[in-house]
Amino acid sequence: MTRLTDLGEFAVIDRFAGSAGGPSVIVGIGDDAAVLESPGGCMLLTTDMLVEGRHFLASRIEPHALGYKALAVNVSDIAAMGGAPGYALVSLALPDSVDVEFIDGLREGFQQAAEQYGVTLAGGDTVGSTVIVVNVALTGSIPHGGRWVARAGARAGDLVCVTNSLGRSDGGLRLLLAGDHTGLGADGAALLHAHAYPQARVAEGQAASSLVSAMIDVSDGLLADLGHICTASGVGAEIDADAVPVASELAAVAAALGFNPLESALGGGEDYELLMTVAPESFGELETNIRAAGSDLAIVGRIVEGSEVSVPGVAVAHLGWDHFHADA
Ligand code: ADP
Ligand code: MG
Repeated sequence: MTRLTDLGEFAVIDRFAGSAGGPSVIVGIGDDAAVLESPGGCMLLTTDMLVEGRHFLASRIEPHALGYKALAVNVSDIAAMGGAPGYALVSLALPDSVDVEFIDGLREGFQQAAEQYGVTLAGGDTVGSTVIVVNVALTGSIPHGGRWVARAGARAGDLVCVTNSLGRSDGGLRLLLAGDHTGLGADGAALLHAHAYPQARVAEGQAASSLVSAMIDVSDGLLADLGHICTASGVGAEIDADAVPVASELAAVAAALGFNPLESALGGGEDYELLMTVAPESFGELETNIRAAGSDLAIVGRIVEGSEVSVPGVAVAHLGWDHFHADA
């Protein structure tokens, strides 16, 4: 019998891909959000789920952060298409042992993200369960004058760029798992905060949309998500490890806990920065636009012919997150 550990997450998705699509589906399964034809232009549609024991430990997450994050990660997928978020449905699966403070915290966190990103809550579903599950579905639209950007579209010779810095969420997760994070000061607090309250780069996605050839948000890790761009685009990529913007807050924490910050920046997930590919002649304008949107932009490598993502000089232990591969 073939089990999920043999198949992997992406083979599961592929099995559904065969029965998806339809006349109004411009981009179906396989991107950060679906792109659908709609009377006023096009509509974006995405969903992401947070599951207790897999994405968070109920004992180690504030309900407020959980509510915030459940919406922010969906907004990030809309941002990665160059879109603006719109309407959300929130579905909750809750054990009956959950207390009312938890529900209120969750709602307040969700509300904070909704206000920050201009999202309107339009409905949802609530069921009993053995573990906590928070699922959000979110619509989006492409602002006037913009265009949607898929994962496919990267071409050999394009530059690979990423907003801001990487590895903070992974550093925060490592701190959480280590349990004791006293004595790590402002840097430790910044990492924990980055893990709990990821920021979706909506303005940056829109600022990039008319210039980039492909875009994705970094949810699985830089190498894994660049791998998704490469697979969709039929190209390979070469990363320059020295050019990767490793979050400065990682240094002391990594030394204390005994890990390599570069590992967090290359393989750690959930930073929700935007990873994009751009023709060299458009980089200057892209950088100006991203700066105007409030973020930095680093060139971390380039797209090459082939299908591999390589990091010359670095032994890559793993390429990011796959839900059914324990060693991923
Ligand atoms: P992201 O990390 O951007 O949220 P995922 O890796 O979760 O993207 O999903 C990749 C693609 O696969 C998306 O287009 C998503 O809609 C699709 N997908 C994931 N699971 C399923 C499923 N069970 N059925 C259909 N499509 C799926
Ligand atoms: Mg995504």
